[in-house]
Amino acid sequence: MERTLIADAFKAKGKVLLKGWVHDSRDLSKVKFLVLKDRTGRIQVTGVSGKTPEKVFNLMDKINKESAVLIEGSVQDSPKAPGGKEILPDKIEILAEADVNLPIDVSDFSKTELPKRIDYRFLDLHREKAQAIFKIQSTLLQAYRKFMTEEGAIEAIFPSIISSSSEGGTELYPLKYFEKSAYLSQSCQLYKQMLACSMEKVFAVFTVWRAEKHNTIRHLNESRQFDFEMCFADDKIVMDVLAKCVQFIVKEVMEIRKNELELLGVQLKIPKVKYMTFKETNDLLKKNKIVTNEHDLTGEGEKKLNELFPNTIVFVHDWPMAGKPFYIMPKDAKVDAILSNGFDAIYNGMEISSGGQRVHIPELLEKRLKVKGLNPKDFKSYIDSFRFGAPPHAGWGVGVERLTMVLLGLPNIREAVLFPRDRERLTP
Ligand code: ATP
Ligand code: MG
Repeated sequence: MERTLIADAFKAKGKVLLKGWVHDSRDLSKVKFLVLKDRTGRIQVTGVSGKTPEKVFNLMDKINKESAVLIEGSVQDSPKAPGGKEILPDKIEILAEADVNLPIDVSDFSKTELPKRIDYRFLDLHREKAQAIFKIQSTLLQAYRKFMTEEGAIEAIFPSIISSSSEGGTELYPLKYFEKSAYLSQSCQLYKQMLACSMEKVFAVFTVWRAEKHNTIRHLNESRQFDFEMCFADDKIVMDVLAKCVQFIVKEVMEIRKNELELLGVQLKIPKVKYMTFKETNDLLKKNKIVTNEHDLTGEGEKKLNELFPNTIVFVHDWPMAGKPFYIMPKDAKVDAILSNGFDAIYNGMEISSGGQRVHIPELLEKRLKVKGLNPKDFKSYIDSFRFGAPPHAGWGVGVERLTMVLLGLPNIREAVLFPRDRERLTP
């Protein structure tokens, strides 16, 4: 007999063969219940003394929770069972027994703390709620690809080993590369720019490594980004692409992951969009008694924006040059401009993306690097790539785990990554 998934067993008639894990069992002496789960749901298995084969009946309450089993039996209507169906078992076979003492609580009401759950992530994923987060994240990834493909963008793969910093600053992981020194990539910035200047519209799902010694609820040392870059474009154009992209992703999640959202108690709505300059934003925050920073938003400021504009992607543009990396275009392409064509996108109280128009003029780029205390010689091939018909271009990056966290209202970004890499954690 072929395996039937639990979701299909609810529609089946007669005999079925199910495979899954024992979620729970109860012994009421004459009747025994076992809840079987697989990736599609849960179903009640009911044993009746005198009716169920004796060996099967005896086994029903003796299987350790979370053991993998095979169950053959017939589907029967049962108004009292969840979903209105139950399985009357003829055969139960233990495929892989779980230890009787589980290191973490995987019940629906688990109170095991996050670090311990991550220590045992493989077991944590026996929980429906943990699975729901990663099913939704999988939809995020697919929705991003779908949106970008419909936009006419090309998906690209970039190197993760780089010879020098791509963002400036020092937060890099060094590694040995034969006789040379190299680093793990902190973004695909320079590569996506080079590509956009020939293929026009490009995107990537790219892993980044940042050796920042922070220990916050919103930072990881290894994270994934949705990257996008296009030419013949400025910051205004790519902000619009980002707004539509996030709206599309939310729509897809709402449609495809109804059950998971319900299980997590999350009510999503397609976000609205608002545009404000950095100055307007800071003035508004000051009015609301938030301490502001001259060239960055504070966490408190980001939270306030969500209170003032709930369920809205707030684009804060005309960002001060001092708060943006060397590759962001200064206003009117003036080397000493105070403001830039850079922006941040804030959604549900947190930065989800930074982006902007890039410097495509080699001489200006050299000057901007120097202003930031970087050596243009280290960026020679990057600068040279703009000498042969590189048009104005712009783009952005969105943190995949950050977006998952923000959409689902998770209290910690580590909930949104299967195997986090942070200041303390290198395993599992
Ligand atoms: P933040 O200000 O939140 O530290 P950033 O400005 O340093 O972020 P960017 O270089 O702008 O980060 O990266 C683009 C996006 O990638 C961010 O908006 C965020 O969504 C995500 N991101 C950046 N750094 C991290 C990190 N350490 N862990 C998880 N996601 C990150
Ligand atoms: Mg940023």
